[in-house]
Amino acid sequence: MCFHQKVRCVCGKEEAYIFHKDNILPEEVVIEVFCPECSNRAEWNPEEMIRDGGWIIHYDMEIAEYFFKQKKISYRLTPEFIFDKEYCSWYGLSPHDIEENRRLSEEIAGIKHASLRDYYEAFRKRRIERVKELQKQGFRKAMDPH
Ligand SMILES: [Zn+2]
Repeated sequence: MCFHQKVRCVCGKEEAYIFHKDNILPEEVVIEVFCPECSNRAEWNPEEMIRDGGWIIHYDMEIAEYFFKQKKISYRLTPEFIFDKEYCSWYGLSPHDIEENRRLSEEIAGIKHASLRDYYEAFRKRRIERVKELQKQGFRKAMDPH
């Protein structure tokens, strides 16, 4: 069981889709999210924050430690661990990835009726282009997408 939440950034302009793998960390583990526009308001602390593609997620490391201990996950706890192992990171490769995918499939939905194969091929091509863009923007999960 995994769950996701939508978190509004500190300036209120953006919303990020955040994914919690295996339901281990509760939504409270996210203290705040900064979009590229409000990221300069963050008091940068690498012990509690992860920077990704211009965004910042600020974690409550005490909450994280508590819940990891309960599940007997022993690992040196860092924001990178939480993020890269998807215990609390973007839903998809970036804060809006899930929405972008939905929009893309709507955009090319017309092809689907004609040929499912063309549809998947178009989806795949557009997706590869998008992942390249995300890589350029420095999104960690886009570097090695699975
Ligand atoms: Zn913002």
